Amino acid sequence: MHLSPHSLRQIDDAYLQSLEVEALRGLSARLLADLKEAWDRLNQGPENSSRPPSSRAPWERPGGVRESDADAEADAEAADGDLEPAPVEAKPAEAKPAEAKPAQTPAARKPGKQPGAPGIGRTQVFPANAEQAHYPDTCAGCGRPLAPAVAVAVAYTGFQAVDLRWDDSARPGLTLWVVDHRYYETPCPCGHRTRAVAGHGVVDSLLAGIELNEWRLVGPGLAALIVALALRFRLSRARIQEFLAEGLGLDLSIGTIHQTLHEASAAVAPAEEELVQAVLDSALLHADETSWPEHDHTLWLWVFVAATATLYYVAGRGKERVENVLDGFTGWLMSDGWGSYRHYPRRLRCWAHLIRKARGLAQSGDREARAFGQWVLTTLEALMAAVYAAREGPPPVDLPTQHAPLLAALRAACERGQGSVHQKTHALAVELLNDWEAIFQVLSHPELPLTNNAAERALRHWVILRKLSLGTRTAVGSRVVALLASVIDTCRQRGHAPWRYLERAIADRRAGLPLAPLPQ
Ligand SMILES: [Zn+2]
Repeated sequence: MHLSPHSLRQIDDAYLQSLEVEALRGLSARLLADLKEAWDRLNQGPENSSRPPSSRAPWERPGGVRESDADAEADAEAADGDLEPAPVEAKPAEAKPAEAKPAQTPAARKPGKQPGAPGIGRTQVFPANAEQAHYPDTCAGCGRPLAPAVAVAVAYTGFQAVDLRWDDSARPGLTLWVVDHRYYETPCPCGHRTRAVAGHGVVDSLLAGIELNEWRLVGPGLAALIVALALRFRLSRARIQEFLAEGLGLDLSIGTIHQTLHEASAAVAPAEEELVQAVLDSALLHADETSWPEHDHTLWLWVFVAATATLYYVAGRGKERVENVLDGFTGWLMSDGWGSYRHYPRRLRCWAHLIRKARGLAQSGDREARAFGQWVLTTLEALMAAVYAAREGPPPVDLPTQHAPLLAALRAACERGQGSVHQKTHALAVELLNDWEAIFQVLSHPELPLTNNAAERALRHWVILRKLSLGTRTAVGSRVVALLASVIDTCRQRGHAPWRYLERAIADRRAGLPLAPLPQ
């Protein structure tokens, strides 16, 4: 929308008569665009748009019943929260104090949430370290540029944001930094008075319901700390609340902490495209997955580790997911034995799993199983030594030729083992035979890895988070975790602390700017 209600109220016939033709044309174009947007919104409901059910106006909700528990929960959290700071009484500029109209008159009210008021109550007010003024830059009426004319501008509203300074070299440690934001109304020679408004960003449709907005109690640096505490240090919302209160003297509601995490994820969501590209461009990719509970069903947390990027998804364990991510990928794919990867031609298998299974069999009570396990183990260990040696200097003959008799003997042993009545002997023999090419690919390319450690190491951190958090409750919650995990791990992989990047990403995207590229 180009024109705020405040601007619209000022525009009347007399004002229109006073404008030059060019200004009038510009204003008509803005009014027309707003009118079309208003009509579109009027005809939009949860049935024909990406608006979640909870974005319905209260009177649209059937009998006040929410569509799902998750919405109710999110709404309740938002209502209890102090996510949107309450407007503070605007301190007017030098001139015309009488014209500064604060949105509310806090003096006569008790602090905190008023009965029946929207969920913006908070009680803590800090002495501000700085004041930030926001002036309108163009006249909403005639379209002329407006100078930030401090002498004539009047503050009409404002709020207090609590931020955290990460780069304050003068004061080591975590420093809270409180900023009083003031929004100004500036008169134009044409007679129109334009108000600066808080910026907002566009959120991708898979994160429907999350808003990127500058009008926030939690500043971008503090938001980055909350992300660090939740995802890197794996603290629950309640523990984060405890830390902020006891460590920094800052009282935040669980709802605010929750929404801050969601907003941070919406801020970095556009980075996914860059990460997918890095994965596709990579010459070698490690893939792995682990179970991930979402509400009442089990999904999988997938990881794809490339040389310079790590990408996570929470999704089903179907073939489609792998195909979607790997569509166009032409490099080597290292994975476990899961069937979803079987169709992929340039595949590698992790030897650590096979060696573990062979060692298990070698210690079996069954004589036949013990002999087979020992055979596989000895062969794999000999071949592994050959691969390590080949990395030091190219062998005179390539490894598959050099070790052809050893491979033929193992193959014969597997073919015998396939018919074994011993279940684990049979299983390992079948696994080796079915995946023979992928397993021994590394002999032709000794520079390729023997294990899938890169992917397993990446997942380990999130497996602990899953154990502590018991997964996620909604699809949006799962996407929030996967996006933030991707950005955090990619930054770390590239040798950067993710928090400064997140701080900037949140600030930019709240202001409606594009997301900066990930640190290289
Ligand atoms: Zn004007």
